[in-house]
Amino acid sequence: MKDLKNQKEVYLNQFKTRSYGRNLFRTQDEERLDAPTEECGIFGLYSENDTDTFSLSQFGLFALQHRGQEACGISVMNNNKIFNIKDEGLVLDVYKEIQEPETFMGNGVIGHTRYTTAGDKKKYNFQPFFAKNEYDQIILSIAHNGNLTNAMELKKELEEEGVVFKATSDSEVILRLIQKNLDLGLRGAIKATMDKIEGAYSVVGITRNKFFAFRDFHGIRPLVLGAMDEKSYVVASESAALDAVGAQYVRDILPGEIVYTSENEKGLQSFLVKENCERNICSFEYIYFARPDSTMEGINVHEIREKSGEKIWYQAPVDADIVIGVPDSGVPAAIGFSKVSGIPFRPVLIKNRYIGRSFIVPTQEMRERIVNLKLNPIISEIKDKRVVIIDDSIVRGTTSKRLVKILKDAGVKEIHFRSVSPPIIAPCFLGIDTPSKDDLISANMSVEELRKYLGVDSLEFLTMENLTEILGSDKHCFGCFTEKYPVEKGENVDLFR
Ligand code: AMP
Repeated sequence: MKDLKNQKEVYLNQFKTRSYGRNLFRTQDEERLDAPTEECGIFGLYSENDTDTFSLSQFGLFALQHRGQEACGISVMNNNKIFNIKDEGLVLDVYKEIQEPETFMGNGVIGHTRYTTAGDKKKYNFQPFFAKNEYDQIILSIAHNGNLTNAMELKKELEEEGVVFKATSDSEVILRLIQKNLDLGLRGAIKATMDKIEGAYSVVGITRNKFFAFRDFHGIRPLVLGAMDEKSYVVASESAALDAVGAQYVRDILPGEIVYTSENEKGLQSFLVKENCERNICSFEYIYFARPDSTMEGINVHEIREKSGEKIWYQAPVDADIVIGVPDSGVPAAIGFSKVSGIPFRPVLIKNRYIGRSFIVPTQEMRERIVNLKLNPIISEIKDKRVVIIDDSIVRGTTSKRLVKILKDAGVKEIHFRSVSPPIIAPCFLGIDTPSKDDLISANMSVEELRKYLGVDSLEFLTMENLTEILGSDKHCFGCFTEKYPVEKGENVDLFR
């Protein structure tokens, strides 16, 4: 562990480069498997009717834009052929490129919104991935959210068998394994793949005439099933995407389940590769990542955030004049805190929604200006006040440090910082872009050291007990808070970092 002074240096330097840990290494070694699937959004729609799958896929992916803004892509099955388009940019940018929309109007469509950080925009890693036959026709395409933990060894095995990889992504390992096993039939090929791969994966896919989706044995990344009518099915990372296309939520895809269409039977079929798998959905989806209007495993995200604010008031009450939330995910927590404490909630931090992650400026001075450009306070509301500020999490400490400066510059009297998640002490290798341990401020400082470093009057984190109580069970992945993961880390995990 580094000493406190060094650690502070590291954090201050990170003000300059807000880029999450693992990506810094990616471009240096082409042999390393990229992990481009982290925090992505996936969407799939299959209809036996004349449904406008093309337009609806755009609606669905729009609803998942928050899960990735770097790149977007779709694959469609149309008349026994698969067409694919993918590129850097937002959903709208990529759909605008489509010259002949009729080509992309078919029975089945899958799509992907991709999240990565700067410096990692290798087009060959954009999704959906596809595999071709010897006649250069696409026969299989998949979109994946999650992170495999044994991808490197499987890739080596496949390469030894002569399989040629086109990208540096763990998702391609899934694609190549399904492709290799296709003579077992689609369901057999997916089962054979699931028997081999380890880690977190939610996948949607198409062949030239079939549609499928499957989820890992722990259900770590979310995946929900919806229906538009009895012949049109939708699968998506979040239920908000079902709402966007007018589909009814049916249920979450089960851990270890494959859903698929088949030539022999009508309707969507389900097959459990393993019965009674334990559900371990990522708790950070509720805390930070998912949309508040999404419901996962029967739990609404907004409700969890509001309850977390209520809980932290009971856990760590404080005398203050106003409570404010860091947009977006800190706001429902601040509302919950206000409800039970009686301290007025004020929407004081104004977020500029038009600055993308790709907004890069050349100098340190300009970089510091971005802070106020992104988040600016209404000074008259907070000047001379005792303020409780609530954020969903503290990762590197960069945002909280900046926020404290913004509040102090605005003339607040006292600052009481509340994080409505427990201290993040361990990296995630299952699909959330959390940095390595050295960069996690709570892995390197006690709460009191961090309080002093941030320069606040009080600092509290939601306890694990309270988080578990709010979520209703301990059957979630809490790896970033406890360093205990539902799956083993795997040999190749460090290669991603
Ligand atoms: P940090 O500034 O590194 O301490 O990160 C904490 C802030 O970033 C909080 O405001 C969170 O809402 C947000 N955040 C948390 N996790 C992530 C993530 N994986 N990617 C991007 N932002 C995040």
